[in-house]
Amino acid sequence: MRIGFGLDIHRFDVGDHLMLGGVRVPAPFGVKAHSDGDVILHALCDALLGAAGLGDIGEHFPDTEPKWKGAASTQLLEHVLSLLRERGYHIVNIDVTVVLEVPKVTPYKAAIRHYVAELCSITDDAVSVKATTSEMCGFIGRREGIAAYCVCLIQEQG
Ligand code: MG
Repeated sequence: MRIGFGLDIHRFDVGDHLMLGGVRVPAPFGVKAHSDGDVILHALCDALLGAAGLGDIGEHFPDTEPKWKGAASTQLLEHVLSLLRERGYHIVNIDVTVVLEVPKVTPYKAAIRHYVAELCSITDDAVSVKATTSEMCGFIGRREGIAAYCVCLIQEQG
């Protein structure tokens, strides 16, 4: 078994929604990002890469690479999952915490959990999605951005 950790942060920009775990969540802003700025999927990619000892998301998807410009984060995750599959790893479980003041993520947590599980070909109960605020402290408290933390466990097949 191998454990991995991932963190992703994005700054808010003009817009009307956030992509969180592949789910579109209406918001009074969007995020400034090379891709769709999905902090949950980016933190998950980094956690999976970390668990497998395969570097980080910046190495695999450099923002200078036109191929990944505007890429859906689901595509990045699919690529990371294929790297793990090639090495014979499967995912045991995933635990995510997203930190933001607004909008409330609670109504979307079940949908995010289900979609992330589906993307990873694991059952919903192997995925946990939690949300919290930063109690109005720091950049998240000032509604300047959003963060997601992810821990995952992977296991070698057979
Ligand atoms: Mg990111």
